[in-house]
Amino acid sequence: MADLTPVVVGGAALTGILGGWLVTLPAHRYKEFRPLGRRDVDAEALTAATTTRVRAVYRTVRCGRCRHECRTIDVAPIISWVRGCPSCRRRMPATVVGMQVLIPVLCVVTALALGGSAVTIPYLWLVICGVGISVIDLRIWLIPWWMPWALAASGFTMIVAVSLSLGIPAGIIGSLLGGLAWFALFFVVWLVSPRRIGFSDVRLALALGLFVGWLAPVLTMYAVFISSVVALVIALASWIGGRGTRFAFGPAMVLGSLVAVWLHPALLPAS
Ligand SMILES: [Zn+2]
Repeated sequence: MADLTPVVVGGAALTGILGGWLVTLPAHRYKEFRPLGRRDVDAEALTAATTTRVRAVYRTVRCGRCRHECRTIDVAPIISWVRGCPSCRRRMPATVVGMQVLIPVLCVVTALALGGSAVTIPYLWLVICGVGISVIDLRIWLIPWWMPWALAASGFTMIVAVSLSLGIPAGIIGSLLGGLAWFALFFVVWLVSPRRIGFSDVRLALALGLFVGWLAPVLTMYAVFISSVVALVIALASWIGGRGTRFAFGPAMVLGSLVAVWLHPALLPAS
C-alpha cells in the first residue's frame, strides 16, 4: 500500500493556505455597531436587552494609518506579512498573520488525525470557518448572527453527502444528535444565565455539535468538556492579567471541538 501521507499533508496545507487567505478579509470586515456605547454599563445593570442593540456590521477593511482600502490580493499570505500595507508598509495586524498560519497548521493536524479519508473534507471546512468566526469573536466579542447558521447548513450538507457516498448513513443521525444535544444544553444555560453566554454561542453550539457528533454523538460531550476547560484557562489567564473574566467563548468552543475530533480514537470506546 502506498503511503498517502505526503499527499494528505500537502492537500490539507494547500487547502488551509487558500482558505485562510480567502477568509482573512471577511473576518476583518466586521465592526461592532454600538449605538449608545453603553454595552458594559447595561450588562452590569441587566438592562442590555432593552436599551442597547449591539450588532456586527459589514464594513470595508482599511489600513489604520493611511486608510488604504485592502482587497483580497493585498492580504496574500507571506507577501503581506513581509510587505504590510501595500500603500504605506504598515505591518498587518497580528490576527492576519495569526489566522493565515493557524488555519493551514490546523488543517494538516486534522487531516492526519482523520487519516486523509473523505471524512476529512467537512472538517477542513470547519477549521477554515471556525477560525474565521473565532477571529471575529476575538476582535469584537460578537459573531454575526447568520454565520453559525450558515456553518451548520453548509457543514450538514457536506456531512450528508460524504456519509451517503461512503455508505454510512447512520453518521447523519449521530451528527443531528450531537448538534441538537449541544444546542439544547447551551440554550438552557442561556435561559438560566443569559449573561454567562451569548446567544451567538448557542447558535455556534448547533453547528459544532453537528460536526463533532458525526464521528460519534458521545464525542460531543467531550467537546463540551474540553471547550469548558479551555474557556476556564482563558478566563483565568485574563483574570490574572488584570483584564477581568469576560472573554470570547466562541474560540474556546471551536478549539474544544477540534481537539475532540483529533483525539477521537483515544476518547471513543474501541468498537
Ligand atoms: Zn497603509
